Amino acid sequence: MTILIDILKDQKKTHGSLRAEALSAAWEHLTALEILQKAIQEEFVGDITLSSSFGADSAVLLHMVAQIEPNLPVIFLDTDRHFFQTLQYRDELVAKLGLTNLVNLKADADEASTEDSKNTLWRTNPDQCCDLRKVRPLNRYMEGYGAWISGRKRHQSATRTRLPIVEFDGKHFKVNPLATWTAEDIDAYFKNHDLPPHPLVEQGFPSIGCFTCTKPVAAGEDARSGRWADSEKVECGIHNPIYGGDGI
Ligand code: SF4
Repeated sequence: MTILIDILKDQKKTHGSLRAEALSAAWEHLTALEILQKAIQEEFVGDITLSSSFGADSAVLLHMVAQIEPNLPVIFLDTDRHFFQTLQYRDELVAKLGLTNLVNLKADADEASTEDSKNTLWRTNPDQCCDLRKVRPLNRYMEGYGAWISGRKRHQSATRTRLPIVEFDGKHFKVNPLATWTAEDIDAYFKNHDLPPHPLVEQGFPSIGCFTCTKPVAAGEDARSGRWADSEKVECGIHNPIYGGDGI
């Protein structure tokens, strides 16, 4: 029986990977809005969420999703270590765009008190801290869904240069409608749709995470180089590469 279960699991993985490859090929040349429409209204109906950091570029996908399905679950991983400007920006965007299903996910209280009683885990073991405050809450919530949308882009860092439009991680599909977008595309979308910028962008933060682990970057530097700037860490764990091993 165990062997049969393993075979079925492998088949599910193979089927998921093939489906992701086929969708990536079919959607590569669609616009981001078209990709979202396909994903939300045809391919993963009622089975998909959007994960948003409410960071520098987040308003683009949030604006598109609001046009298609304002009640789509929008997941915000509330680590208790966000800049207050991010929390304000989150609330401002949700109200302005008419999003009606914001889901704030936090670490399990018992796990947090056991593993991070001194609130220093971000410094002593940032991988465990991200796992506690981001990966596990997201995984628990996503037990009820088959796919999620992320705002990652190929230009953002060396770890994302081969990012496909659709990935499959063995359990969930990830849809990346902005994979091919450049920084100029993002700027143009903000201007064309009169979207408010995250208030920290003008202070030198092109990529914004927890205040404990994010620094401003100089002009011309990798946009994500201010994240975990004093360590080898480059991803929080919810986006560890599954598409070729360019990075971690
Ligand atoms: S980014 Fe830093 S503070 Fe935030 S969850 Fe990860 S390690 Fe913890």
